[in-house]
Amino acid sequence: MKVLLGTGNPAKLAEMREILGEIPGVEWVSAGELGLPEPKEEGSTLEENAIIKAVTYAKLSGLPAVAEDTGLEVEALDGAPGVLSSRFSGKEKDYEANNRKLLELLQGVENRRARFRTVAVLALPDGRFWTNEGLLEGEIARAPRGTGGFGYDPLFIPKGGTRTLAELSPAEKNAISHRRRALEGLRPLLRVLAENPELLL
Ligand code: IMP
Repeated sequence: MKVLLGTGNPAKLAEMREILGEIPGVEWVSAGELGLPEPKEEGSTLEENAIIKAVTYAKLSGLPAVAEDTGLEVEALDGAPGVLSSRFSGKEKDYEANNRKLLELLQGVENRRARFRTVAVLALPDGRFWTNEGLLEGEIARAPRGTGGFGYDPLFIPKGGTRTLAELSPAEKNAISHRRRALEGLRPLLRVLAENPELLL
């Protein structure tokens, strides 16, 4: 059974592949390999955007599709940037500008608590879908550190640790991440679908 990994972000795709790993009977294909455009994120919540992406990719490809949407939720900013995480600074996917804006807003703020929230969705071409959420609690550093990962990783210190996500190896990040926790929950469904292809009909 071919399953589409629905993202146009190469860093995210690498993490999704690594986290989902081998599932018997499942062959991963990426949206890029099929030349599929990334659906517009027009929802007002992470859930809505993740569902839009997975359902659109499944319909376009005719394959089961896994997609996710992730946001950074900062307590002192009432949960911002949240669903607007990729365009926080106004520019789409400008990681450095987003990180600068976050540090500016938190200047002099003692409460640095934050969390990453990922909603992962498995959708079928007929429109059926399942969702699962993953959380990673932590805090925002005073300055960026590290070169790994992407997005807000240089500013995010997972709870109980001292290093930012960008200072962890990919394996260390993927072992604890919001993305792992969200995608893990879809594995049993993917196994059942691979073992019972008639469920796709
Ligand atoms: P998306 O809408 O799910 O693609 O992600 C929104 C934004 O959140 C991205 O542009 C990144 O800035 C940030 N983001 C998503 N996942 C991560 C992560 O694992 N680490 C750090 N930042 C992330």
